[in-house]
Amino acid sequence: MAALAQLLTHVDAEEVVELTRALCRIPSVYRPGDPDATEARVAAFVETWLRREGFHVEVHEAAPGRPNVIGWIGETAPGQRALLLEGHTDVVTEGDPSEWSWPPFAAELVNGRIYGRGAADMKSGLAAAMVAAAAFKRAGVTPRGKLVLAALADEEDHMLGVRHFVTTPIARELTAAIICEPEDNELCLEQRGVVWARFTVRGRMAHGAMPEAGANPIHGLGRVLREVPALERRLRRRCERSRYLRPPTVTPTIIQSPPRGIGVPQSNVIPAQAEMTLDIRLTAGIDGEGVRAELEQVRARAAEASPDLKIEWEPVNPFRLATRVDRSEALVQAMGRGVRQATGRAAKYGGVPGSTDGTILRMELGIPIVTCGPGNRLIPHQVNEYVEASQIIEAARIYVASALNYLEA
Ligand SMILES: [Zn+2]
Repeated sequence: MAALAQLLTHVDAEEVVELTRALCRIPSVYRPGDPDATEARVAAFVETWLRREGFHVEVHEAAPGRPNVIGWIGETAPGQRALLLEGHTDVVTEGDPSEWSWPPFAAELVNGRIYGRGAADMKSGLAAAMVAAAAFKRAGVTPRGKLVLAALADEEDHMLGVRHFVTTPIARELTAAIICEPEDNELCLEQRGVVWARFTVRGRMAHGAMPEAGANPIHGLGRVLREVPALERRLRRRCERSRYLRPPTVTPTIIQSPPRGIGVPQSNVIPAQAEMTLDIRLTAGIDGEGVRAELEQVRARAAEASPDLKIEWEPVNPFRLATRVDRSEALVQAMGRGVRQATGRAAKYGGVPGSTDGTILRMELGIPIVTCGPGNRLIPHQVNEYVEASQIIEAARIYVASALNYLEA
């Protein structure tokens, strides 16, 4: 307890807020084709900051010009724990800046809120994690085991950062992770999974005036579309009901015919090919094989009804299944106590409606994850994104107490 009190004196409210603002002022929207529009500048800032605080630091290129920054304190011996505080450095586009009441990269502080792209998602969570980890260094409290901080690239797109990170030796040592995404500092024990399935229908081109001469792939897509409600019902039966998350959903998001790059749309031409993407959200209880079997059933039924067409499906990227951790996990216990110590109130539990880098950590490393960070979970990706300064400070204190509880147990 003495150690915790000492650690918390090194979480300075003004520093956490100013660090968040400094991170927000470095734009890190990834714009393909523009070598200056990546996470590189914010990653360099984090790297310099961590080195100055005396962390061990490694920088890995997740993709060209898109670095992951990893810092840590302490060492692991057999049987000891290693806890990760995880954040991502990329932000989504600001959209049209004229729609913002404050410039999207100025990080203005107004009535206790910081406004800007990435304020909630998730430069504030990253700043809170940085200050929390640094508190151990500054207080001279060397944790038993290892405390790792990771600032990863590309969470908003293909999760290349975390996919690279899980292949590194330091990730393989981890025994648990806190994902510092904006969740109003609730302890989120579940995350919905996401699967993107692209259906491709191949037919035969013909003149629109003589449809009998061709095979129209758009009718095949219609058959797939008709299977969507039944697919959703089956997934709801197969997945478990969650206390915190909405049941599975199946949502068509992209339809193209002809698909981009394959011919030009013309009003009097039956295209050779049509494509549709389904965005499928899952709760726990189904594995990759189960999802594959369900999608195969959709394909088979649509194909049966369309004998002159070829219908296939493929995942757009690797499946991200739903994740769940138990209340009895050591990390959850450590954080539940941590919230009380850091804030004086009882922890609130919740779930994450989307998937995060934590999904990959849970699936690839098998470690328990809890998502907990400052910011309203509905505000990310919106115009006038903001974060309450008080929540950032609270998050930093929660991370300190939780890390101490977890590593010293
Ligand atoms: Zn995020």
